[in-house]
Amino acid sequence: MRDTSFLGWPFFEERHRALAERLDAWAGANLGDIDHRDVDAACRTLVARLGKDDWLKHTAPNEDGSTRIDVRTLALVRETLARYSGLADFAFAMQGLGAGPISLFGNAAQRRAWLPKTRSGAAIAAFALTEAASGSDVANITTTARRDGDGYVLDGEKCWISNGGIADLYVVFARTGEAPGARGLSAFIVAGDNPGLSIAERIDVIAPHPLARLKFDNCRVGADTLLGKGGDGFKIAMATLDVFRTTVGAAALGFARRAMQETVARASQRQMFGGSLADLQMVQGHIADMALEIDAAALLIYRAAWTKDMGAARVSREAAMAKLYATEAAQRVIDTAVQIHGGDGVRSGHPVEMLYRDIRALRIYEGASDIQKLVIARAVLSSAER
Ligand SMILES: Cc1cc2nc3c(=O)[nH]c(=O)nc-3n(C[C@H](O)[C@H](O)[C@H](O)COP(=O)(O)OP(=O)(O)OC[C@H]3O[C@@H](n4cnc5c(N)ncnc54)[C@H](O)[C@@H]3O)c2cc1C
Repeated sequence: MRDTSFLGWPFFEERHRALAERLDAWAGANLGDIDHRDVDAACRTLVARLGKDDWLKHTAPNEDGSTRIDVRTLALVRETLARYSGLADFAFAMQGLGAGPISLFGNAAQRRAWLPKTRSGAAIAAFALTEAASGSDVANITTTARRDGDGYVLDGEKCWISNGGIADLYVVFARTGEAPGARGLSAFIVAGDNPGLSIAERIDVIAPHPLARLKFDNCRVGADTLLGKGGDGFKIAMATLDVFRTTVGAAALGFARRAMQETVARASQRQMFGGSLADLQMVQGHIADMALEIDAAALLIYRAAWTKDMGAARVSREAAMAKLYATEAAQRVIDTAVQIHGGDGVRSGHPVEMLYRDIRALRIYEGASDIQKLVIARAVLSSAER
């Protein structure tokens, strides 16, 4: 039995509760038959299904700006999809993150050109920020965008780019040099088939999804692909992460809830020492710890989401707390779930074994846990009287 008591919390409106129930039924009926052996094909199928049944419309506002991103909805969708399938959550999330800079900073023409496609699943989106030498150290980006006639020419490489190889659009962050460091970056929309953009390497990871190193070699784009103004790139990246970071926590929460479901079922059924595993008090202690961490994570996530939805310009501290706590807690919850499953917990293809692999990268991407601590500490120190 899944725990839905959190839906009664005051962070939510009736529309959120209805959506969570509808999506749970949809995920139960639509995600079981996807063949994950070819992750590219699986992702394309997932994006198409999520688009066809209108779930992707939550990843970006209408092109005319008449709707806006609702972070509580994003978080509920990610939490629910993650409970069923890490890859389904990934496919949904990347449409939001990839199109995020266009949603937040695109002009009318850019929004019209791309958002109807990412919201329907007609175009797959990617967010290309990281480079081999600048992951956590974003301001150190070396990919360049040089002004040339009526456009720009991009040169360099991006690494660890999700949806790399299958994306129809990449938002690419490059150095335009208006100022040193973070203030000299800009963001561009680059079509997947733009000449000069190629896939230098496909990267395999422990929870596979489309992932690649991209190469930009004399890659010419029009001036109309620049998002915001030259030099806005760092601001655009951070504002986008500010919205979507909370939802990484939500995906972790979904994984943790699934681990809990599996653990409760296992502990109740498994007979040993003349009773069930769940009768043993040390197991009950583990289950209590798991429940506590899940609720604490959910409170931080929906606090951050609600704060953003209520109109806060930035929620860096709240989002960092939500992502840091939820991802670290989910790792502990899932590890305990594996332990309680005994040998079955490490059997390839068992749900908790898959969760064990699914959760790991979330503590690294969109700002590693140590980076979240820096964000929190900076916010605390700058607001404290010193
Ligand atoms: C599965 C996956 C998918 C990804 N998808 C994308 C994507 O779609 N788009 C994209 O742009 N990027 C993506 N990334 C890249 C991701 O955001 C980076 O891996 C991440 O920012 C960390 O950068 P790095 O790997 O270079 O590690 P490094 O920057 O080398 O950091 C390594 C470790 O050092 C520690 N550390 C770093 N800085 C500090 C500090 N200041 N203080 C204390 N400790 C510190 C942390 O523990 C960190 O984990 C993805 C990564 C993975 C693994």
